[in-house]
Amino acid sequence: MTGGERELRTGTNMPAIGGYNQAVVLDAVRRASEGLSRVELAERTGLSAQTIGNVTRRLLEAGLVEETGKVVNGRGKPRTILQLRPQGSFAVGVHIDPAVITYVVLDLRGGVVAHSRTRTPSASRPGDVVDLMARSIRHLIDDSGVDRSKVLGVGIASPGPIDAESGTVLDPPMLPRWQDVPLRAALSEATGLPVLLEKDVTAAAVAELWFATGSSRANFAFVYYGTGFGTGLVIGREAIRGASSNAGDAGHITVDPDGIVCRCGRTGCIGDLITPRSLVTQAVEAGVLARPAVDPDDPFDMTTITRAFYELAESAGSGDPAAISILHAAGRHLARALVVIVNLLDLDEIVFGGPFWEEIGDALLEVIPYAVESSPALIPKHALTFVRSSIGEDVAAVGAACLVLDYAFSPRPSAMLISV
Ligand SMILES: [Zn+2]
Repeated sequence: MTGGERELRTGTNMPAIGGYNQAVVLDAVRRASEGLSRVELAERTGLSAQTIGNVTRRLLEAGLVEETGKVVNGRGKPRTILQLRPQGSFAVGVHIDPAVITYVVLDLRGGVVAHSRTRTPSASRPGDVVDLMARSIRHLIDDSGVDRSKVLGVGIASPGPIDAESGTVLDPPMLPRWQDVPLRAALSEATGLPVLLEKDVTAAAVAELWFATGSSRANFAFVYYGTGFGTGLVIGREAIRGASSNAGDAGHITVDPDGIVCRCGRTGCIGDLITPRSLVTQAVEAGVLARPAVDPDDPFDMTTITRAFYELAESAGSGDPAAISILHAAGRHLARALVVIVNLLDLDEIVFGGPFWEEIGDALLEVIPYAVESSPALIPKHALTFVRSSIGEDVAAVGAACLVLDYAFSPRPSAMLISV
């Protein structure tokens, strides 16, 4: 960690929430959906009654918590319950997918209060996209009725690889015109708000962590299915970022030695085999789809590919055996990669989501659990759970906004890795 902690302490970017004790108390309040009394807060945080009194007074004054009634415990005097005040602060989340850009505004509890989506302009220069994003964020905040002064910042979920230190999007394979784009600085300048940058798959995993209940989501991979494929990894309830915040790229795991040649030069890499574009190509070859008229000036014409992909999903949904067979094969390929990932990290849960998952998820999940669990290569003997994202297709945008909230009030050091 390089100075991130010190930056958070000074509170220059997040003026409403400063200091470690406030972060500790806010985090404890956030995790107790029924709220907590000051006595309970002291017990849970290890802080003295006097410190709790001071901190909660400041949080009440800042409008971040509210008193929501009293409970009577035994013969003691009634205790006042403190809860997060959802309207106390807000965060914006933006998710850039090569096909669509999604925007959300989250309240302090993580509730989505506004949402919008635009197509990613395919032929634009990154500068134009930044201007479009800044405009869309401004409109979304205005339309949501949220007081702009209460917006803590903007989180961006971007395809990797990224340079988290400098806030730069390097050269994502699906965004050919994006090379070394200093997105964090550009968007911060265009919006006047602090900005965090995170890899899309990690943002998605962070969102799942945020909303996890009970014992779920402790050791899992988030299988992110968008224009590309990647995984967000969580071990011991901590998102795994690695040395450069680019962990989780499982795209070059070989799953079909007879498969198509990947851009890495080898054959049958999972990332290339199951993308929407690849499934569309397979469907054309199998006679399920007519060849889509891809824009000759835009080899990454995601508008056309998306339409054809929806058509394939629809054919499978209406029982076309050839379409179903393509999706089942994709499921078995994905299962092979999942076995490697589960073995490597001893995971017990796989969460599926991303902007293109909804359309084909049912078909793939008809084959994935059995294909993983019956694999002779699977090492761990414990049960595995296969679930859909509890957040849905906005998961990466929601996760990006959660990161801003985490940065503002999580006392865990890992939440401070990305400085504004
Ligand atoms: Zn490859």
